[in-house]
Amino acid sequence: MNPHRSGTDLAAGRRIVVKIGSALLVDQERGTVHRRWLEGLAEDLAGLYAQGKEVVIVSSGAIAVGRRYLRFADGVLRLEEKQAAAATGMVHLAHAYQEVLARHDMTVAQVLLTIEDTENRRRYINARNTLDTLLRLGAVPLINENDTVATEEIRVGDNDRLGARVAAMISADTLVLLSDIDGLYTADPHSHADARLIPQVDAITAEVEAMAGATNTAVGTGGMVTKLAAAKIAMGAGCRMVITDGRPERPLGRLLEGANATWFLPSATPRTARKGWIAGSLKPMGAITLDAGAVAALERGKSLLPAGVTAVSGRFERGDAVLVLGPDGRELGRGLSAYSSADAKRIMGHKTSEIERTLGYRGRDEMIHRDDLVVN
Ligand code: GLU
Repeated sequence: MNPHRSGTDLAAGRRIVVKIGSALLVDQERGTVHRRWLEGLAEDLAGLYAQGKEVVIVSSGAIAVGRRYLRFADGVLRLEEKQAAAATGMVHLAHAYQEVLARHDMTVAQVLLTIEDTENRRRYINARNTLDTLLRLGAVPLINENDTVATEEIRVGDNDRLGARVAAMISADTLVLLSDIDGLYTADPHSHADARLIPQVDAITAEVEAMAGATNTAVGTGGMVTKLAAAKIAMGAGCRMVITDGRPERPLGRLLEGANATWFLPSATPRTARKGWIAGSLKPMGAITLDAGAVAALERGKSLLPAGVTAVSGRFERGDAVLVLGPDGRELGRGLSAYSSADAKRIMGHKTSEIERTLGYRGRDEMIHRDDLVVN
């Protein structure tokens, strides 16, 4: 099998999300960060970064660090204790990442997300824009769940799935789950000597799910079941996912050298998956009508600017799906509006340079960015 052709190679990634579990990063007894391991990881990340790849970190460990600083007893914490622990621990985590990456001239940007930021379209578009901007500026987003405000009912709870949601949100092409096991096995390798590692999964079938049920990883909120849930989210967004053992030093370097792993390979690319999502699964909340000039621009693959809009109908919020209509009312495609219907009405027909004066704030230059637009 040619690894480059099958995509089972980290080197093929351009926008890579790396999820790091608590057990790898934090000494659970003392609540300190495994410094040497983290320095090795920073070297790995710097290597990817130097090749022009975009890197996003999703890190757990805030609660594991914070609970020691706050001197909580062992055992399960109550929700408010977890929130307090996360608030304390996240400062230490961010500091540790900032220090090890600064040595490689990499700038860390902390982003704490709740499930709402990945589900509510208006907030989703916001978080996506922020992360896109950080990546464009060369920063490394350091993401964790905003445990301080997330209550039990609304927590994602595990960073495997949070990582997958982030990967989907920013159209990443690769999600790496650094785990305490080197992949998915046919049965629990701790109890079945004949269990085999599955190097590649092309679809999450019932058979694959049965394998996950049989595999217990020792620590962490995750386990193989949440990793498969993450794989479903990632694959649905056209992002490939890999599970590999994160415990040795330089785990990404090892992965590049062909360490054991399970690769989950989607059939779509992030771009086609996102366009499919916009075209198919979102209910349009309104419509935007274009003049002939804007239609021509659209057909050349350009974004949709307010100047070319002649009418706005329906009621929609920023981030909602809308129909895009030609001068004759024919449906040309669909997209996510960067403005609410009220604001879109106020800026339609205006030049982009007039948006700020008209609305009193500086929004996006485009009414619908071409990444958010599907032309029929
Ligand atoms: N957000 C949690 C923390 O930072 C970790 C969630 C998980 O274990 O995946 O402590």
